[in-house]
Amino acid sequence: MKFDLTEIKHNNSTKKDIDFTIELEHINYNGDLIKVVTPANVIGVLYDLEGKTFFVADVKTKMRTKCSRCLKGIDFNYNTNVNIELIHEDNANEEKLNEDVYIYNDIIINLDEIVEEAIITNIPMKILCTNDCRGLCTQCGKNLNDGACNCELTESDIETEGIDPRLLKLKQFFKNE
Ligand SMILES: [Zn+2]
Ligand SMILES: [Zn+2]
Repeated sequence: MKFDLTEIKHNNSTKKDIDFTIELEHINYNGDLIKVVTPANVIGVLYDLEGKTFFVADVKTKMRTKCSRCLKGIDFNYNTNVNIELIHEDNANEEKLNEDVYIYNDIIINLDEIVEEAIITNIPMKILCTNDCRGLCTQCGKNLNDGACNCELTESDIETEGIDPRLLKLKQFFKNE
């Protein structure tokens, strides 16, 4: 959606409710193409506060991807948000660039671009099919959500997914109590 900033800058209103959807086929996430199953729904507000312009919105969509642990294909409900200041390039300076800002040079801005960037930036590092997904056996590759395998797992085999082994020991300690 294109938005003409004069609507909030030079009219009497300083606030504009936003509600639109973006058709996205894929999200390019570090070279991986993640399929987007439902259009991204964006609900929020554009407002002007003491001469500064802000865009705040909730974004909801659904993506088809793989569980990071067991690699099963899943449709993942993805919610994120946009909270950004819009700055004209004439007013942009170095220190502003480190904050959540969007620099524009045309008074008509492309909100799709901002939303898409927020979607990519906020994708979680790990997407799990369920919070307690057991993952794959590191020896035989069996999906442990379907039941245990017959491998004799040593502690170092269990230690996957970057769990700190000391933490794992501690966890087992409490479990055994
Ligand atoms: Zn899983
Ligand atoms: Zn196994």
